[in-house]
Amino acid sequence: MEKLNLIYCGNPILAKPSEEITVIDNEIKELALEMHKTMRKEGGIGLAAPQIGINKRLCVIECPENKKSYTLTLINPQIKSFFGEKVPFEEGCLSVPGITARVIRPSGIILNALDINGENITINTDGLLARVIQHEVDHLDGILFTEQLEKEEYFMVERRLKKLIKKTKKELNILTGRKAN
Ligand SMILES: [Zn+2]
Repeated sequence: MEKLNLIYCGNPILAKPSEEITVIDNEIKELALEMHKTMRKEGGIGLAAPQIGINKRLCVIECPENKKSYTLTLINPQIKSFFGEKVPFEEGCLSVPGITARVIRPSGIILNALDINGENITINTDGLLARVIQHEVDHLDGILFTEQLEKEEYFMVERRLKKLIKKTKKELNILTGRKAN
């Protein structure tokens, strides 16, 4: 498999809803493995397939919670319900480098997904793990955390965000040979 490259905010792939995975074949398994490696290398606690340019409903997570570390591969994850209060938390994203902002989300979730062996799993959790899962599932729906901000919070990052989007678009235009403007 080719080395996985992160893509950045402003790339239309990140805004596209991803497709369900119908067959968990070797290609998907290898992709998940490479995504874990990329996530670790980049120092992230979650990575969704669209972030490496692949619009498939797959994400990997490695996140500490309650003194344990959870390493998860989630295929076709679906949040079934939310619980608990809505709480603010400072989020960042490998696709939005250099920008963090407070996002308000429900503290707890119940999630169904398939694991890498195609087994059904249910996750009932709150805290950081629930936060990361919500962020990653958003990626699969084409949503970045910067679209989930309250107005005042958005204003704080707007300038840097627009700069990043412009940079990404410029690089994409160069790559596709179109004239950048
Ligand atoms: Zn992200």
